[in-house]
Amino acid sequence: MDTVPAKTIVTRTKSPGAWFGIDYNMNLYRGCCHGCIYCDSRSACYGIEDFDRVRVKQGCLEIVRDELRRKVKTGVVGTGAMSDPYNPFEREHRYTRHALELLSAFGFGAAIATKSDLITRDIDILGEIRSQMPVLCKLTVTTADDALAARVEPHAPPPSARFRAMERLSAAGLFTGVLLMPVLPYLEDSRENVLEIVRRAHGAGARFIYPAFGMTCRERQREYYYGRLDEHFPGLRDKYVRRYGARYVCTSPRARELWAAFTEACAAYGILFDMKTIIRASRQGYAERQLTLF
Ligand code: SF4
Repeated sequence: MDTVPAKTIVTRTKSPGAWFGIDYNMNLYRGCCHGCIYCDSRSACYGIEDFDRVRVKQGCLEIVRDELRRKVKTGVVGTGAMSDPYNPFEREHRYTRHALELLSAFGFGAAIATKSDLITRDIDILGEIRSQMPVLCKLTVTTADDALAARVEPHAPPPSARFRAMERLSAAGLFTGVLLMPVLPYLEDSRENVLEIVRRAHGAGARFIYPAFGMTCRERQREYYYGRLDEHFPGLRDKYVRRYGARYVCTSPRARELWAAFTEACAAYGILFDMKTIIRASRQGYAERQLTLF
């Protein structure tokens, strides 16, 4: 696999703790080959050329080890924001797995966002981390329909595999849930789709679902997305252009209705959907344990 040079990898977030309790971000890979047609990370503002080609950051594990060792404060390290940490190359190369081992060794927590069931390979390490710090496993699901996913997320494992992974992670006692985002206007924003995701997430033992009923659209991301719409969903581009123009946030016209149905279903199943409540639940037990130690 090709490499790219890197100086720092584990960086403090702009608002520590605000997003799923994450204090630090960590991206070992550059680029992603899952091919999601809506991917925000291919936007021009991030400057990642040849985005679909996965490269690993040179010496990433040594850099991560040195950075963790030097941190004055431990915290939860998030991964999966700019590329999927469980891309197909990870099966052989195991950079994510080894980075998780480092998090465990240095007493950090982990919050992982992925579309791949390969995350279940690392249940053992995640269990070790969980014994000392919070672990959040976030499986992204935008549609419950494998056939539609094959067109909008062509190279990622299908949603059915993600639900099975969720089941295994939950059964292992890991705090697991769904990132229900984006929800693509006119493609995925039906009440049936949203409720089916909630139903299957519940069946898989999900503790939380965090939604965004719409998508973002920026330079380069928009051109790529519209190109794929023309290929797979002829005519849909015009609807987007008419409704959203050059807007960054493209909220589903049904967002209000979807939110009402979604929250009602989550409440009925006891699934958390509010960020503060999710963070509180993910940390349950840890503060007390530290107090006991002192
Ligand atoms: S998995 Fe995430 S980073 Fe990879 S292409 Fe899809 S949206 Fe982009």
